[in-house]
Amino acid sequence: MSDAFPHLESVVKEIADEMRQRPDRGEVATYIPELARADAKAFGLVVIDADGNVAAGGDSEVPFSIQSISKVFTLTLALGKIGDRLWRHVGREPSGSPFNSIVQLENERGIPRNPFINAGAIAVTDQILSGHQPREALGEILRFMQFVADDPSITIDEAVAASEQRTGFRNIALANYMKAFCVLDNPADYTLGVYFHHCAIAMSCRQLAMAGRFLVHQGRVAKNGSSVVQAERARRINAIMLMCGHYDGSGEFAYRVGLPGKSGVGGGILAIAPGKASIAVWSPGLDHSGNSHLGRIALETLTKRLGWSIFGA
Ligand code: GLU
Repeated sequence: MSDAFPHLESVVKEIADEMRQRPDRGEVATYIPELARADAKAFGLVVIDADGNVAAGGDSEVPFSIQSISKVFTLTLALGKIGDRLWRHVGREPSGSPFNSIVQLENERGIPRNPFINAGAIAVTDQILSGHQPREALGEILRFMQFVADDPSITIDEAVAASEQRTGFRNIALANYMKAFCVLDNPADYTLGVYFHHCAIAMSCRQLAMAGRFLVHQGRVAKNGSSVVQAERARRINAIMLMCGHYDGSGEFAYRVGLPGKSGVGGGILAIAPGKASIAVWSPGLDHSGNSHLGRIALETLTKRLGWSIFGA
């Protein structure tokens, strides 16, 4: 049981029960055909508090496609590799545009607004790829994920990766567009191959909440645990998550939930309560911005009940 939050377990279970009963579940993504197979009724929630206590509710152990949540980890890796030089290839301002928008990219001469829209994440992946074969770069991303989650069993769902590779025409367009502006250093199809595969990493809420711990503890996996990144970098990644983690729904997420967070079209959200907890939620139905409908409502309820918004109770 959590000393700091004695009711954490019951709050998490209550919310999982409440969410299971709600009829409004949003729409499961179908533009990547393999994602359409997700069970719209699934709901999972895991909170790992600052002392490492785990509170879980619903389908907390079922793996799902983390999709864009992987972008938090590729951003962390790329910053580790090339530091601030990354910002020559991608900005760090909210986009106010849909996740796969091409319009902004044309106006801004091929430099994506931030690392969490698709174009920005493709540019980040391209920097991880530089100097490597795609297979090596992908291996590095997967190993990093396994390390931060402390779980070597995490894998890539090859069916999801292949499904997106067959149908990801917008991402192919975005990558080629950036290539035309010399923003990508590697062949666009190599970069896209790595991108599609890291989006197809499958994790459960428990594994995802484990992976987020370094953003709770100023770059360390636990209060006195090993260091993944410097405190300053963890703080900045949290800032980008807060401003850009939910595409054109980022303002709404900050307004309602008040935590740094990153969503994926598989229906997952990783949210960070700095110094307090790493939280993963999953419900495959999405809202019109491509963010988990019930996931956001569950996080709003949780932060309200626990007073965890970074903006005050
Ligand atoms: N792989 C997805 C895409 O590029 C990620 C989008 C998301 O999760 O928001 O379309």
